[in-house]
Amino acid sequence: MNLLYCITVMSVLNTTSSGASHRRTLRRPADIHQIVTKRARWIWDNLQQFAEQQSMVLPRQYVSGETQFYLGRRYVLKVSPSETQRSDIKLYRGKLQVTVSAALYDAELSRQTKVKGLLKRWYAEKSQQVLSERISQMMTKTPWVKETPSFRIMEMKKQWGSCSASGSLLFNPHLIKAPKECIDYVVLHELCHIAEHNHSEKFWRLLAQVMPNWKQVKSQLDGMAELYLND
Ligand SMILES: [Zn+2]
Repeated sequence: MNLLYCITVMSVLNTTSSGASHRRTLRRPADIHQIVTKRARWIWDNLQQFAEQQSMVLPRQYVSGETQFYLGRRYVLKVSPSETQRSDIKLYRGKLQVTVSAALYDAELSRQTKVKGLLKRWYAEKSQQVLSERISQMMTKTPWVKETPSFRIMEMKKQWGSCSASGSLLFNPHLIKAPKECIDYVVLHELCHIAEHNHSEKFWRLLAQVMPNWKQVKSQLDGMAELYLND
């Protein structure tokens, strides 16, 4: 963190102090003010962005303010005590709001465990729902899939999905954090495996037919994998 902080500040110093035109403009207080304001904003944005990236690859604490992904969007987690004994979780006004019973809320460790469990269940439910919908949607592009394949949700460390020899599919619940296009890529990849049970040339040709930009979508998904897989 310190290292990047230094690099950021140094590049700011370089850009503002190099070149005669900059030195001339720096003599006018109004311009100085404008440059400083602009640069302060830039430094702040960069530090914010970096702090955010750092916080997301660190182990989660399941506290208010953390980022949660859903369908490619970032939501701020808000944890609050429930007025009833019931725990609840919902997307509301750009936040993922989790309420836990007051007794659990007051004990930090049990609150974390509870919030983690609630999130896990919520993501699993959403995965079931969204994947079922995406599979039937994507089947319109894969005429070789005659019957809706059965699928299950299972946490995996290195895979987004898989297809068994009998054609039943497995999906990683963390996939639901990615944009819909990335989910569709994984679904189409597995649906192509129903026709081709390997990564032969024929398989890749089939995939390119149903999703011509799959490489781009895949690299988008891979680029976010570390963040999505962080619980
Ligand atoms: Zn494959």
